[in-house]
Amino acid sequence: MSCLEGGIETLCITEAFGEFRSGKTQLAHTLCVSTQLPLHMHGGNGKVAYIDTEGTFRPERIVPIAERFGMDANAVLDNIIYARAYTYEHQYNLLLGLAAKMAEEPFRLLIVDSVIALFRVDFSGRGELAERQQKLAQMLSRLTKIAEEFNVAVYITNQVIADPGGGMFITDPKKPAGGHVLAHAATIRLMLRKGKGEQRVCKIFDAPNLPEGEAVFQITTGGLMD
Ligand code: ATP
Ligand code: MG
Repeated sequence: MSCLEGGIETLCITEAFGEFRSGKTQLAHTLCVSTQLPLHMHGGNGKVAYIDTEGTFRPERIVPIAERFGMDANAVLDNIIYARAYTYEHQYNLLLGLAAKMAEEPFRLLIVDSVIALFRVDFSGRGELAERQQKLAQMLSRLTKIAEEFNVAVYITNQVIADPGGGMFITDPKKPAGGHVLAHAATIRLMLRKGKGEQRVCKIFDAPNLPEGEAVFQITTGGLMD
């Protein structure tokens, strides 16, 4: 997507939030490929780690996206290290294991799709919010540390929840989950929403060096496109 000017940044966390089917996971798939482009094509030329908490990663989706970018699909797939997480603790432990891997091989991107879903399941009881936020903060600080220590881009996805207060727009009754803890951890926040058909809209918040604007994109077989 050109609104991201070729990709997402290393050394920090980029968060995408939006309702179901808004394209968060499809953006993750596209980034898996675009990150592996050679440097002269604005890629990061490195491996990708993918932590999947919802079981929605589809390796067969990577194939047409790689072909669109003129890359060898098998080579691209070989460079994606994939793990499914089943509890928030499992998710955290996977990050510890990854750090050891990243110390040995060059990685350029870490994806956690979704960063918050397991927390919402594992701390669903009344009165558990404070503990959830504390554990979430720990997870996010681990992600920031990985971004900085290994010079990788971190892409996380987040859900939206009902907001009786009016959300980020007076007309939109939804807001990103995770509260201030997540808002402060993410350097760039992307809000995705559905448009007509396969059209989607991406709004950029808080980016230190990208214009705060809206861009329309499409979800296609070859990945996200303008
Ligand atoms: P959730 O909150 O449920 O995880 P999401 O934001 O991750 O949702 P995605 O899974 O990224 O949503 O997007 C789903 C959308 O992508 C669907 O509308 C689907 O039609 C579209 N899509 C998936 N695969 C393709 C494809 N091969 N070609 C075109 N569109 C596709
Ligand atoms: Mg998804």
